[in-house]
Amino acid sequence: MEDIISLDKQYIAGTYGRFPVELVSGKGSLLTAADGKTYIDMGSGIAVSAFGTADDVWAAAVTQQLTKLQHTSNLYYTSPCVQLAKLLCEKTGMKKVFFSNSGAEANECAIKVARKYSAEKKGGDCYTIVTLCNSFHGRTLTTLAATGQDHYHELFQPLTPGFVHVHANDIEELKRVVSQVKVAGILMECVQGEGGVLPVSKAYMEAAAEICREQDIPLMIDEVQTGNGRCGALYAYMNYGVQPDIVSTAKGLGGGLPIGATLLSKKVQDVLRPGDHGSTFGGNPVCCAGALSVISRLDDRFLEQVRDKSQYIFEQLQGASGIQEVTGMGLMIGIKTDRDAKDVLAACRDKGVLCLTAKDKIRLLPPLNIPMELLEQAVAVIRDACAV
Ligand SMILES: *Cc1c(COP(=O)(O)O)cnc(C)c1O
Repeated sequence: MEDIISLDKQYIAGTYGRFPVELVSGKGSLLTAADGKTYIDMGSGIAVSAFGTADDVWAAAVTQQLTKLQHTSNLYYTSPCVQLAKLLCEKTGMKKVFFSNSGAEANECAIKVARKYSAEKKGGDCYTIVTLCNSFHGRTLTTLAATGQDHYHELFQPLTPGFVHVHANDIEELKRVVSQVKVAGILMECVQGEGGVLPVSKAYMEAAAEICREQDIPLMIDEVQTGNGRCGALYAYMNYGVQPDIVSTAKGLGGGLPIGATLLSKKVQDVLRPGDHGSTFGGNPVCCAGALSVISRLDDRFLEQVRDKSQYIFEQLQGASGIQEVTGMGLMIGIKTDRDAKDVLAACRDKGVLCLTAKDKIRLLPPLNIPMELLEQAVAVIRDACAV
């Protein structure tokens, strides 16, 4: 342990604050550390490992593709990316997909599509993207500009211009900004993840969708964290009954492999033309085989189990000792605690449960298929750790 910590310190750029655990293997919702200790995984590598670690079905799909054809570039046709795009479109009603490698890239594509659509329709000065205060959209200079949290911006100026931030759930403010600024798109998360697991209200989402429809502004939903079953629906916007024009997703899509996708509705499906955008790794057959396996398993029955597990967590934690508030949707849950969240996290880790934080909250993002008995054990440990 000391060894790996000092090597990491010496050779890895110092961007991450890591916990003193070296993970070496896992199975399903259990993770094993180098010292032999096992943990219940309540983080899924930040909502990535949708079916936990080394899931048999997923691993078979990935391995089969890996030993056949691992990469071709986008100069040739390959089946997994086409099959995945078809499945995503059939399940969402969207029309076309652009594949990339991360959430930030999926958002970059969404922003480019919205800007080009609006430039062609309304002129080149219609470029401003409206996003929410407290949002998180990625780490590239453009997605940082989209991110409505100042502390991410400091010392990286100038960021990409053309972003304004409005307060979530303030419909009047949104209307005012849209009437004053030439808006090329409205981009938001259904549940702000990094911002503290805060769902936007249904009324707000409906109002935004209405404004977008009336004024021909693309409604863009960032489903990087909320998507792919995480919130108890295939995509969280489906819980709101709105129809976005552009959906970006990543994290859980590949089940542990890097893949981003930007889904385009009928309105914007032909905005991107040859040369407008691209990605060397985008649509990589191995990542797409993994994603195809993930998405094909997220049927109604499976999603109902996600919602049942969510309800169980809410019931167990709401009103428990030391817990002020439980927020979130599906298996994306935030817990406001009396104790400092970092202390709760460490106490859970000591007891063999790995959780996350978001701002000053505990955040839970367990594998979507976590067995009920492991979930019960983990929730009991979390309850104890929160109790004061
Ligand atoms: C994680 C996240 C991103 C960034 O994804 P990367 O894969 O790290 O680039 C963007 N938006 C949201 C909502 C996220 O949670």
